[in-house]
Amino acid sequence: MSRAYIALGANLGDPACTLRAAFGVLANLPDVRLRRCSSLYRTAPVGYARQPDFINAAALVETALEPLPLLAELLAIEDRFGRQRSEKNGPRSLDLDLLLYDDRRFNQPQLTVPHPRLHLRAFVLQPLAEIAPDLTLPGRGPIAAWLPAVATQSVTRL
Ligand code: ADP
Ligand code: MG
Repeated sequence: MSRAYIALGANLGDPACTLRAAFGVLANLPDVRLRRCSSLYRTAPVGYARQPDFINAAALVETALEPLPLLAELLAIEDRFGRQRSEKNGPRSLDLDLLLYDDRRFNQPQLTVPHPRLHLRAFVLQPLAEIAPDLTLPGRGPIAAWLPAVATQSVTRL
């Protein structure tokens, strides 16, 4: 089994309700075991500011799925929750990103792991550090070392 960390985010509809439901869907995927769920966090939008605040969270799963099939499952869950893709960093009913997959690295447009911006974003780092405080980010060192740099970003644990 491999260990994968997943970021969850939403800012349309009832995002908190969506994220709780998405944890449930992850837990019921074949060949996936949901091991840890973070708290939910209210976060200010990044990039495209004129949109509602986001709710973000992180999950740890153990899985027998390879990275691309796992990503396909995540994108299918987004679709089930009505995901529509409009502007980059725009509002979304549900976003599921694969942050880390063991210590492996992929550099394809279809799948970039570790997620290229995860170490710069408080809305990813804070939930991830909650469920994995001793995590080492492949190529970047301990997660704790990255938290101070994002401390000014607005993230509130619910
Ligand atoms: P973003 O999450 O960057 O706002 P989207 O959710 O619209 O963008 O995803 C667009 C594409 O990004 C997906 O179809 C997927 O193939 C690709 N992608 C590349 N790396 C990852 C990753 N680590 N996690 C999720 N999607 C990824
Ligand atoms: Mg995404």
